[in-house]
Amino acid sequence: MKILVINAGSSSLKYQLIDMETETVLAKGQCERIGIEGSKLTHKVPGKEDYIRQTPMPEHKVAVDLVLEALMDEEHGVVKSADEIDAVGHRVLHGGMVYSDSIVVNDDVKRVIRECFDLGPLHNPANLTGIEACEAAMPGKPNVAVFDTAFGMAMPEKAYTYAIPHEYLEKYSIRKYGFHGTSHNFVSKETIRFAGLDSETAKVIVCHLGNGASVSASIGGKCVDTSMGLTPLEGLIMGSRCGDIDPAVAQYICNKEGKDINEVLTLFNKKSGILGMSGGVSTDFRDVKKAADAGNHLAEVALDAFAYRVAKYIGSYAAAMNGVDAIAFTAGVGENDAPMRSEIMSYMGFLGVKLDEEVNKASRGKEALISAPDSTVKVLVIPTNEELMIARDTAALTK
Ligand code: AMP
Repeated sequence: MKILVINAGSSSLKYQLIDMETETVLAKGQCERIGIEGSKLTHKVPGKEDYIRQTPMPEHKVAVDLVLEALMDEEHGVVKSADEIDAVGHRVLHGGMVYSDSIVVNDDVKRVIRECFDLGPLHNPANLTGIEACEAAMPGKPNVAVFDTAFGMAMPEKAYTYAIPHEYLEKYSIRKYGFHGTSHNFVSKETIRFAGLDSETAKVIVCHLGNGASVSASIGGKCVDTSMGLTPLEGLIMGSRCGDIDPAVAQYICNKEGKDINEVLTLFNKKSGILGMSGGVSTDFRDVKKAADAGNHLAEVALDAFAYRVAKYIGSYAAAMNGVDAIAFTAGVGENDAPMRSEIMSYMGFLGVKLDEEVNKASRGKEALISAPDSTVKVLVIPTNEELMIARDTAALTK
């Protein structure tokens, strides 16, 4: 069985073709600058040189047609015909309060994705465009929507309800949803498998630490809490997002600088996080680390604050679950940054957590148990693989 995974953005479209028998990537790539001058397709097949096509892509349908051409290309292709592709799995940001699982796309599903445009204004319209482009390019082929918010839908009311008048939940579905759900779902389940934990009862905290960052707590792979909220702005300090903050700060800046709320939200989303805290060094953790090592005090504080905030979330989620069996690190920083993992774990002595510092130092981008044998909690590095999770859900729903 071969599954095409699509992640459509407003002017981009990333794809992977995955063979489900071996769970290997046959080909992957991306279309950039769709609808803009200078459109480009980059197609990668393991063991071959990149195949690049620079040709106009006025809309997503043209991009999907070009992806199919590349996949079937005599020299750079991996299938003979589109019939070999069994189904298409789509990353969709927001399923609102309707979808707590992936689902085969029909008109109702498309209606809900459309109804959630207000909740995911940057992503949902693009995700729907990607689905419609695939429907047009491959008529009759099943499409599956895999929602980034689905994992968080298992949260209990006490975790997802904001302490504002109830009418706002009723009228506008304002609640905590959580994002990176596909990653948290994948990593929590891989953690249970890799660590040999009980799949029904294991208490797992996943730290997805990348440019976007979030923490989740789950029991038996079901989310009980997660740090992002109505939007991805809530929770941890991120590359350019501020995370948790007193909402009155927004009003204060508006009043002091004559800005409107949209401008301040842009500031919170794009100019804050380690970028803002470091005085503008970078959104990239490696750059900020370099600056800190060179004596930049603000960069040092930004990284300290990042670790501190992650540790506080882990502590609160251990309390929320009345215990924790495993803590897993994933995404760019979580998978690669051993000193950051070590700093975060240095707060966890009270839980009986002990890292094996040597194994931690040696662990990069591959599954590893990095806690010491006598640690009360297992600590792991588990690389995330959202595309594989999307492909697995798509295969399961269309077999
Ligand atoms: P992601 O959003 O998951 O792609 O993660 C991107 C972030 O991971 C960037 O801020 C990178 O600086 C960071 N990152 C990637 N590799 C490393 C590394 N070896 N050490 C520290 N940070 C890293």
